[in-house]
Amino acid sequence: ARKFFVGGNFKMNGSLKEVETIVQRINDAKFDGSAELVVAPPALYLLKIQGELNPPAQVSAQNSYTEKSGAFTGEISPNQLKDANVHWVILGHSERRSLFGDTDKLVADKTKAAVGAGLSVIACIGESLEERESGKTQAVVERQLEAIANEISESDWKNIVIAYEPVWAIGTGKVATKEQAQETHEQIRQWLAKKVSQSTADETRIIYGGSVNGKNCTDLSNAPDIDGFLVGGASLKPEFIDIVNSQK
Ligand code: 13P
Repeated sequence: ARKFFVGGNFKMNGSLKEVETIVQRINDAKFDGSAELVVAPPALYLLKIQGELNPPAQVSAQNSYTEKSGAFTGEISPNQLKDANVHWVILGHSERRSLFGDTDKLVADKTKAAVGAGLSVIACIGESLEERESGKTQAVVERQLEAIANEISESDWKNIVIAYEPVWAIGTGKVATKEQAQETHEQIRQWLAKKVSQSTADETRIIYGGSVNGKNCTDLSNAPDIDGFLVGGASLKPEFIDIVNSQK
């Protein structure tokens, strides 16, 4: 069985004090223990928060570069994350893709470097509203997956969680319906079976992101191919605890 996975993507939000308050709330919460929990604070706060977050919850970076070290001002290497005991990184988030020039190829190269350094990756994919409305959802997510699959080996998929995040649902309050999300998650799993392997398809967690909140999470988590969530705005709020505990 795939372990339910919930990620909290804080994005570029919060002061140090605010982020520490959020993490304290997570530490104080009662979890039923069935979910794997990873929180991604802004990079500046990663090590401080790592020291304050109670295990088994883990921290994640929100991005990393393709190279081990060198003249890449402003970037963080996956090897540096590994060295600092940060074991997770979010790659290919739609905000990185749309605002910071992360192409399919760059995301794939970053993913290759991250798994090569021994990190686990939350790899984000998803279509825009225009792409969905013109019936291109499946083609877009498969193109994004294919780019990654071309750079990594079958065994690397053990260290990848796929986050399906339709762009039109991110930060909009417009959550995908359970049927919409399940349909795409099922297509992603079928693609993994066909292009990677049946065991990869069976074992890879495919989580949903986009306006998940404390109210809609239970319904979504009932879908057979939704293995958890990547949460933005609501990960900063008390309802995040309900989302972590939403597995049926
Ligand atoms: P929201 O939950 O704020 O819609 O953001 C989703 C997201 O982008 C998580 O990575």
